[in-house]
Amino acid sequence: KSEELHRYIVNSSPDIVFMLDREGRFTFINNKVESVLGYDKRSLLGQHYSTFINSKDTERASYIFKDSDPSERATRTLELHLKPSNDSRAQRFFEVTVFPIESRANEISTPSNQANRENSGKRKLIGTYGTARDITERKEAEDFINFQAYHDLLTRLPNRALFKDRLSLAITHAKRNTQSLAVMFLDLDRFKVVNDTLGHAMGDRLLQSVSMRLENCLREGDTLSRFGGDEFTLLLPDISSKEDARKIARKVINVLKEPFILGEHEVFVGVSVGIAMYDEAGSNVEQLIQNADIAMYHVKGRGKDGYKFYSDTMNVSCSNRLKIERDMRNALDNKEFKVYYQPQINAKSGSIIGVEALIRWHHPERGIIYPSEFIPLAEETKLIVDISEWVLKTACNEVKSWIDAGHSDIRLAVNFSPSQVEHPRFVDMLFQQLEECDFPPENLEIELTENVIMNDLEHMIQKLSKLADLGITIAIDDFGTGYSSLNYLHKLPIHTLKVDQSFVHDIQNADNDACIVNAIVAMAHGLKLNIVAEGVETANQLDYLKSLGCHEIQGFFFGKARPADETLLLINSSTQSEAC
Ligand code: C2E
Ligand code: MG
Ligand code: MG
Repeated sequence: KSEELHRYIVNSSPDIVFMLDREGRFTFINNKVESVLGYDKRSLLGQHYSTFINSKDTERASYIFKDSDPSERATRTLELHLKPSNDSRAQRFFEVTVFPIESRANEISTPSNQANRENSGKRKLIGTYGTARDITERKEAEDFINFQAYHDLLTRLPNRALFKDRLSLAITHAKRNTQSLAVMFLDLDRFKVVNDTLGHAMGDRLLQSVSMRLENCLREGDTLSRFGGDEFTLLLPDISSKEDARKIARKVINVLKEPFILGEHEVFVGVSVGIAMYDEAGSNVEQLIQNADIAMYHVKGRGKDGYKFYSDTMNVSCSNRLKIERDMRNALDNKEFKVYYQPQINAKSGSIIGVEALIRWHHPERGIIYPSEFIPLAEETKLIVDISEWVLKTACNEVKSWIDAGHSDIRLAVNFSPSQVEHPRFVDMLFQQLEECDFPPENLEIELTENVIMNDLEHMIQKLSKLADLGITIAIDDFGTGYSSLNYLHKLPIHTLKVDQSFVHDIQNADNDACIVNAIVAMAHGLKLNIVAEGVETANQLDYLKSLGCHEIQGFFFGKARPADETLLLINSSTQSEAC
């Protein structure tokens, strides 16, 4: 009866219970092994325990079973994978506890009287007693929690926490070996458009495809993480120069340029990349990430789909980002923004043909703040949409009054930010605005950078054609600094190229014939495009541009941007002198 009771207790145990002989062969095993691992318990008798253990765990197992010296056996616990009876069963994970069975004279030492062992007389090891508890579910839950704590579940990439951890290690390593490293902050362009128009499921699929493409650009040791939303960060610990970082940034931009196929949709996204190099752009985790982020926003602010290295000048503007951001939110309500106008001159006649609206912020404490200091941040916080709408409205109203006062041909050029143009209702909003101000569309020129256009060429063709149909003209701002592809020029209804200031500044004197301006002006003539030279500061530059046949000029040589009332006086005197 007692035997039966013990057998019942052992076989009903929730754990596998077993005994091994001195050599490690099964001499007893309870019924549990049948339900948990699918073995016929009789077939295991006489077999060595190691045939039962997953090969990657055998070394650890031999440590607790003390194969090297059985006399050293003591109670030990280890977590091990045990093999199931056939491959169709999933592997399971067990907490295995073993302890030696020793005999002294006729007494068997068991865990309960093991404490006395040390003092007892001569002992003899006769086998091992053990239990194996199935902890698969607990282990899976633990693994999942660990994974979740350090990974993004959608893309399975490391998350922010793991990224920071790896970056911190990489910084320590770089410091010790006086090496460099690069942190890149990536933000997808147009992700929101895909998410909003095709739905979140497609948005998720896009993020997964993006992650896969990015992973293929990387080397072993690099860490790509999903930082949140459509933001990724990249740690490149083995970077010796900026040139290396630049190569990778270009590679990243190129792989994401190819279209993504999502079901029956073909979508295009781009990426803006900000780069912070250790230790010139920061020497700790937070600084490097923040500065890469700042650099990224400078890419966004200026047309996206490109890369920029962080430089200290960016930080001057962003050292108190939070404060600026807070102030900026109030600035619209407090009427602190003003539109200034810089004249555009016809160099032949000297008359003012148009003005470019340029925003200024009259900050109550800091005085006038220029757009390069707050436009990137406004872009980041999406405040740019409200600000730009305000600029358009104000400029249209002010210039409309000049038109009504008799300057019917005056052209108003307005800068548009990437997020504004990308907005699905961009064209409608623009039309509505013009209607509200009763502003003649043919007097309006909108300025876009090349990258804004290239980001989404197909949509851009549609949008810009609608504007052109209404008589609005379109100018490419900072021409020559963005895309090298000129392919888009004949696909789009573009009227004006604005030669970037940097090329104009390169003009030293009137017989300098090697400059890029020559090529741009020649090309504009060939394509029958209007051309405006920006940033003209000297008579030499003016003469040279005139000699090339570039007659529309904007720059300090003719005047800086100034408030509406002053500009009107200037226009009045310009038309008066013309009349004379
Ligand atoms: P942009 O459209 O290329 O504007 C020309 C910039 O060059 C202006 O700077 C202007 O003041 C400056 N500039 C003009 N002539 C000269 C010159 O002879 N020499 C030099 N060194 N600079 C000259 P600003 O006003 O600081 O604007 C900077 C940029 O900010 C603009 O570049 C434009 O991209 C952006 N921006 C300005 N206003 C707005 C706006 O209302 N909305 C948007 N989205 N962007 C704006
Ligand atoms: Mg402009
Ligand atoms: Mg410009």
